[in-house]
Amino acid sequence: MAYEAVWMNDPSKLNKFEFIKMEKDGLDVIRTIIDKYSKEGYASIPEDDMNRFKWAGVYEQKPKDGYFMMRIRINTGIMTSAQARAIASIGRDYGRDLIDVTTRQAIQYHWLKVEDLPDIFNRLEAVGLYSYEACGDCPRTIVGNPLAGIDRDELMDTREIVEQVNDFYLMNRDFSNLPRKYKMSISANIYNNANAEINDLAFVPATKVIDGEEVIGFHAYVGGGLSAKPHLAKELDMFVRPEEVLKVSIGVTTIFRDFGYREKRHQARLKFLVADWGPEKFLEKLKEIIGDMPSAGENKVVGWNAVYYDGVYPQREEGLNFIGLNVPVGRTNSDELEQLADAADQYGDGTIRTTMSQNIMLAGVPDEKVAEALELPVLKRLSPKAKPFMSRTVSCTGNEFCNLAVVETKERARRVAEFLDEHVELDEKIRIHFIGCPNACGQKHIADIGLQGALVKTPDGMVDAFDIAVGGILGPGAKFNESLKGRVKADDLGYVLVKLINFYKEGRESGETFH
Ligand code: SF4
Repeated sequence: MAYEAVWMNDPSKLNKFEFIKMEKDGLDVIRTIIDKYSKEGYASIPEDDMNRFKWAGVYEQKPKDGYFMMRIRINTGIMTSAQARAIASIGRDYGRDLIDVTTRQAIQYHWLKVEDLPDIFNRLEAVGLYSYEACGDCPRTIVGNPLAGIDRDELMDTREIVEQVNDFYLMNRDFSNLPRKYKMSISANIYNNANAEINDLAFVPATKVIDGEEVIGFHAYVGGGLSAKPHLAKELDMFVRPEEVLKVSIGVTTIFRDFGYREKRHQARLKFLVADWGPEKFLEKLKEIIGDMPSAGENKVVGWNAVYYDGVYPQREEGLNFIGLNVPVGRTNSDELEQLADAADQYGDGTIRTTMSQNIMLAGVPDEKVAEALELPVLKRLSPKAKPFMSRTVSCTGNEFCNLAVVETKERARRVAEFLDEHVELDEKIRIHFIGCPNACGQKHIADIGLQGALVKTPDGMVDAFDIAVGGILGPGAKFNESLKGRVKADDLGYVLVKLINFYKEGRESGETFH
C-alpha cells in the first residue's frame, strides 16, 4: 500500500472484513471475475471473493442461488443517449429487462450471472461507463446536479469538477480500502438538488469576497449518512474554490481512510468520526493535510426541492427546456430506456438525466418541439404529469432481490401510491419513501412520510409491517423525520396512510404544509 494508515498499527482494532480487504484489494476481484469465475461458474467463487464482488459493483441477489445485481455509476446523473442504449441492451440481454434508477442516480440491474460479467464490463466500458466501485468500501457514484450546465438555479456548471473527482478515485488503489462505503455529492444548485446533508462529503454552492471580488465556490459538509443511526452532515468553516474541490476531497478521504473506525462495521462510516471529533477538530486535521484554507463565505443554498422536476421547465439558455418524467418507484425497462434515448436525440440535446428521487429527465428540448415531445408514447407511463402520490413515491429494492430486506417494498410502494391517488385529494404533494430494512437505501429519513419495513406478531404468526416516521426535510432547517408510535401491518398501510393524510388535511392551518 502506498500509505501509512494509522489503523494498520493496531490489528486488534480491526473487524474481520478488514482482514479480507488487506489480504486482497477489493479491486483485484475484477480481474479474477474475468479470468476465473466467469469461466468456472458460480460454484467456484469462495466466500472471501464473493464479499469483494462489491468492488466490481456486483452483489449476490436473493436468494443467493447464482444471480447478481449490479450498479452502474452515472456521475451527476447525466448519461448520453449512446450510454442509455448500451444500458438498455445489456438489460435486455442479461438482466431480464429490469432497469432500476437508484436514489444515488445510478442504474441497477438484476438477474445477472457471473458468466455474463466480462461482456457486461466490456460493453459498459465501450461507452465510458463503469460498475466498478459503485458498491464496496470505496468512493462510490458521485451524485450531483442532474441539470448541471443547463440549470437556471446553479451558480456554476459542476460537470467537469465531478468528472475530475470521479477520474481521480475510480480504480485508485490508494483509496480502494476505506473503513466503509463513502459517498460524495457535488452540486452548485441553490435548492440542494444533490441532497448534501446525507453524504459523507458534500459540496454546496457558496460565494466569498476575496481581494474585493466575489468568488463563486463551495462550502463543504462532512459526516452525513442514513441507516439505523442517521446523521446530518456538518458544515465546515471553509470556503473552497472550484479548482480546490479535488484537493479538499482527497484530504477528507485521507482522514477517513487513515483515522476512520475499522473495529465495528456498523460504526465505521465517516459520520461516527465526525461526531466524535466535531467539525472544528476535523477541519484542523484537514488543514494539516491540505494546507490552510479561507474561512467560510456565504452559503447560497436557499431551500430544498427534494429533487423533483416533473413537468416542463425552461433551461438557462433561452428557448430550451427540460422535461422531468416520473419513473414509478424507480423501475423502468430496456424498451422504455431505448425510446428515451431516441427521444433525447430527436427532440433534445442527446442526454438523459437521472435524479436522486429515482426519476429521469430529457434536456435541451427547443420550445417548438416541446408539444410534439410530450406526445411520445413512452411518456404515457413515464409521465411528466404523474398522479401526485405516484410522482412522489420512492422505494428501495426490498426483499424481491435484497438479502438484507425484512419485507417487500417496490411493488408494495407502487400499489400504495396507486391506492392513495384513488382515495386522497390534496393540494400539495407528499413525499413517501419505503425501505425494507434499517439500511435506508430508499432514504426514508428525509421523506414527508418514511416507511421502514419490519415484522409484527399477529395471531396468525409474523407478518410484514411498517414503522412510520413523519416530517423529514433537507436544506435550511434540515431534520430527519420523527417516528410515530406503533407499527402498521403492511396490508393495512394504504388505509392508515389515507387516515393520516386526511387527519393532516382536516386539521392544518392556513399556509401550513405537511412537513
Ligand atoms: Fe435492501 Fe435494506 Fe437497502 Fe432496502 S434498505 S435495498 S432492504 S439493504
